[in-house]
Amino acid sequence: PPDKDQLGRATWTFLHTAAAYYPAQPTPAQRSHMLALIHALPALYPCNHCAEDFGESVAQHPPDVSGRAGLSRWFCERHNEVNEKLGKAPFDCAKTDERWKDGPQD
Ligand code: FAD
Repeated sequence: PPDKDQLGRATWTFLHTAAAYYPAQPTPAQRSHMLALIHALPALYPCNHCAEDFGESVAQHPPDVSGRAGLSRWFCERHNEVNEKLGKAPFDCAKTDERWKDGPQD
């Protein structure tokens, strides 16, 4: 099976970066592509229990695809739920641009 941590870091990098560069005012097509991407994860993410929990989280918290700021916050909050589950410190969702768009990368 894939390395869960490596897969997770790579996936979060993709998702947070895609949110950071998502338009402030997305077209209807961009919104529907983003919704499709989010809804595909519970079906396709190659860690079954991760995918299942993420699917429940998406069902409880409908994705905000209205624009860059809302989407970045939405992914940050979903990631923080996983952080909490794993006993990790929460990430400050005011800092998503600094981490994923403007700032130095780690
Ligand atoms: P990661 O949590 O991968 O974070 C990478 C970087 O993102 C951090 O260094 C930090 O700079 C930044 N970051 C951290 N939190 C946030 C945030 N809230 N918003 C924005 N940026 C942030 N692992 C499991 O063991 N069990 C699970 O059930 C599970 N479910 C997952 C579900 C999904 C959808 C995904 C994508 C991953 C899941 N993972 C799960 C993997 C887990 O989230 C981590 O990726 C993995 O534990 C490696 O953690 P890490 O400490 O290296 O950093």
